[in-house]
Amino acid sequence: MEYAESVVDLIGGTPLVRLRSVASHVQPLVLAKVESFNPGGSVKDRIATRMIEAAEASGELKPGGTIVEPTSGNTGVGLAIVAQQRGYKCIFVCPDKVAEDKRNVLKAYGAEVVVCPTAVDPEDPRSYYNVSDRLARETEGGWKPDQYSNPNNPRSHYETTGPELWEQTEGRITHFVTGVGTGGTISGIGRYLKEASQGRVQVIGADPEGSVYSGGSGRPYLVEGVGEDFWPEAYDREIADEIVAVSDRDSFVMTRRLAREEGLLVGGSCGMAVVAALRVAERLGPDDVVVVLLPDGGRGYLSKIFNDDWMASYGFLETSKEATVGEVLR
Ligand code: PMP
Repeated sequence: MEYAESVVDLIGGTPLVRLRSVASHVQPLVLAKVESFNPGGSVKDRIATRMIEAAEASGELKPGGTIVEPTSGNTGVGLAIVAQQRGYKCIFVCPDKVAEDKRNVLKAYGAEVVVCPTAVDPEDPRSYYNVSDRLARETEGGWKPDQYSNPNNPRSHYETTGPELWEQTEGRITHFVTGVGTGGTISGIGRYLKEASQGRVQVIGADPEGSVYSGGSGRPYLVEGVGEDFWPEAYDREIADEIVAVSDRDSFVMTRRLAREEGLLVGGSCGMAVVAALRVAERLGPDDVVVVLLPDGGRGYLSKIFNDDWMASYGFLETSKEATVGEVLR
């Protein structure tokens, strides 16, 4: 019989798939690492496992303890799954702008969700940073992973995602492209690939226009999960050979094309990373192998990126593709 002992054992080992349609105009082979195949639906399952295991080993997280983290999305899901399987409680703190559906996903896995006002300063005691710090301190057995500064975030990618990419491409990968949020993905995978290839593999970060990584001031953008208005410790500034800035519009238009043309219903940061990968691939030749990492699936974005009205309200969509019954019958 072939089965896993628990879903935690199904984390990692995600597939690579060729982007045939959106990359048809470029010479290199362009491959996508599809992280939505993880049980929690995103790349963040990997860091959740590693951060929890390390905290168990160091004694920071004790049996029956409580994990407290400010997160509304993928990291919360990863932590909730691993925590549940190992008997820990989870409290996630998120701002009130986070959609109810996302909060309900976390609750479905058994986590407690504390909602804080969005419209307050980070220094305000009600801000979600401060509330999570206080809860971690005041809850008995409380532990805050802090993915932005936790070295086990990049380490999980150095130990799993990086070696997977090297083996899956039989060492033929020449360029690796990924979005940058905490910086854990690019730092861990980038370092592994640089070492394995003796510096040959080029590492490219994709960043929303406005974020600090591509020289912006931290001005707002709509793509979720990537870009920052500060420099996190998890980000190794020495790793990226290049950072490509991508607009919200280009990111979302590509995200929709990935669903429509490649059968990949993925999130907005995936579209962003693919735009950056194609810009790099356009100047390369047939012997190059470009791999782009797609962090999560698209189900969490149905009311935004995959909603014509939402897209049109930002001017990202000129004409609605959805025909009315009258038009179809005419
Ligand atoms: N895309 C999405 C949807 C994410 O949630 C994240 C994580 N914040 C990233 C990309 C970026 O990954 P990292 O934090 O490792 O830089």
